[in-house]
Amino acid sequence: MRKTLIAGNWKMHGSQDSIKDLLNGITGQLDASMDSDILVCPPTIYIDSVKKQLENAPVAVGAQNVSEQDQGAFTGEVSGDMLRDFGVEYVLVGHSERRSLFNESDEIVAKKFAKALEHGIKPVLCIGETLEQRENGTTMAVIKQQIDAVIDFYGDRDVALDKISQAVIAYEPVWAIGTGMTATPEQAQDVHSSIRNYLAETSQDTADKIQILYGGSMKASNAEQLLAQRDIDGGLIGGASLKADEFIAICKKAG
Ligand code: PEP
Repeated sequence: MRKTLIAGNWKMHGSQDSIKDLLNGITGQLDASMDSDILVCPPTIYIDSVKKQLENAPVAVGAQNVSEQDQGAFTGEVSGDMLRDFGVEYVLVGHSERRSLFNESDEIVAKKFAKALEHGIKPVLCIGETLEQRENGTTMAVIKQQIDAVIDFYGDRDVALDKISQAVIAYEPVWAIGTGMTATPEQAQDVHSSIRNYLAETSQDTADKIQILYGGSMKASNAEQLLAQRDIDGGLIGGASLKADEFIAICKKAG
């Protein structure tokens, strides 16, 4: 039985004051009936204060990015060691904005994935196709290529699948991110089950165990149907995670 994970990606939004309000709004509405795991991923500079504000709350803190390097002359980068030093538990790797705006290739994403695990941080591997790729019928080819980059990094399928079993996958169709266009529950389920089947070709155990989140304009009004799908184990939420009421409403739909 996989636990549901509801994760908020705040992207580059917020200020000390607005984050305080957002966290008060979230923690003030948590109740014992909610049994999904909850995660927030603030901009890096706010991680420490968010960790402190959430000290007694059942909400994990993640980062939005990690360097593929350990340390050294890499101006502006933040290492896995540094994130771990601040108690970060999860990190997004390969978000489509990182891939498209910051030229992160599948190979770089794979290195970041491995670096996160090396430092004891759970990577949330973001994968998904563009609208053009969906229309060309290459959705699964693109997704397999994104997963294969991680497998190739480790060089051995069994080792790689064991590593992947320690991670989370987020299926985020690029055309649905920040656009208000959501994949239908059937479209999302179709890709989620194909991802699980692909992993099962090498490891049934990993396929059964791994949480596969859906991301792309998820909100309170569409979360219930998406989260009801057999292979959808949670959500990665951008815009709607910046409003406490909306985020909590999604968490409540998750049970
Ligand atoms: C995201 O940034 O991962 C995301 C899914 O954004 P949104 O919910 O705004 O589409």
